[in-house]
Amino acid sequence: MKHFKITLLFMLTLTTNSIFAQLDLNKSKLEIEKVGENIYLFVQQTNIANPSSIVYSSPELSILIDPGFKQMQPIIKDSISALSGGDIKFTMASHFHTDHAQAMEDYYNTTTILLSSSQYKSTTDMDIKNVMSSNDKYHLKLGNEELEIHSFPNASGHTGSDALFFFKRANVLVVGDYLFQDMYPIIDVKGGGSIEGYFKNIEYILSLANNNTKIIPGHTSFKDVKNRYISKAEYSLHIKTLKESMSEINSMKSKGLSIQEAIKQGLPEKFKYFNEGMKYVSQDKWITFIYNNM
Ligand SMILES: [Zn+2]
Repeated sequence: MKHFKITLLFMLTLTTNSIFAQLDLNKSKLEIEKVGENIYLFVQQTNIANPSSIVYSSPELSILIDPGFKQMQPIIKDSISALSGGDIKFTMASHFHTDHAQAMEDYYNTTTILLSSSQYKSTTDMDIKNVMSSNDKYHLKLGNEELEIHSFPNASGHTGSDALFFFKRANVLVVGDYLFQDMYPIIDVKGGGSIEGYFKNIEYILSLANNNTKIIPGHTSFKDVKNRYISKAEYSLHIKTLKESMSEINSMKSKGLSIQEAIKQGLPEKFKYFNEGMKYVSQDKWITFIYNNM
């Protein structure tokens, strides 16, 4: 038996004071969307965050990527049973933020935990029966499907311990918090992440994708969208727009504007979309973050 501890990083929440907010099951639901053969996107629409869980479910076995919140697990398990899925055999996480991985420990002794190399390094004192990790990527053969668990080229990305999941046959890429659909992203610099590494890792994600790839966000849009996944072209455009917003902020900074002045001036109209409706990072927060960290 291995002893590890996954240090859960503090989750950044929707509003400043909701860091103390509790998940309220009466205000939470699970929304399920099929994204490929035997592959389902479970969106945990809770009152404090909307993390994605990915479920592979065949009669032989089920796999859970990003179990999410502890309180949501009974609903998740019931939903997997309703899909006639077999027992959960493998559990993994895109990273260890609370909204994605709080319930990991529920699976330590009943499933095999698969970790990327950077995740393996960041674990200490965690009581796991079965754990596997690999340096580069790990293949899991699942009938007709093949699941790859990749380490990112830059260990410092969204956090310091991220993983990427690629269902090869279904052509589904599970990118975790490398995609906040229609929103400015959170990059957890205090949790080992970096802006530079984040965008370099996105280049890596794009290099794996082709025109038919479905890219699944760690946080789907709060807007009324057609699909809760996006194409390579849509992801490229999203990233290009984010980078343009960063250039705008940098140019305000190099012109000598203070943070307050930059916030007051704001960003051009084309970036307003990211700041509309529910989100994790407002335009003001994004300007402050980029101004201070680049
Ligand atoms: Zn995260």
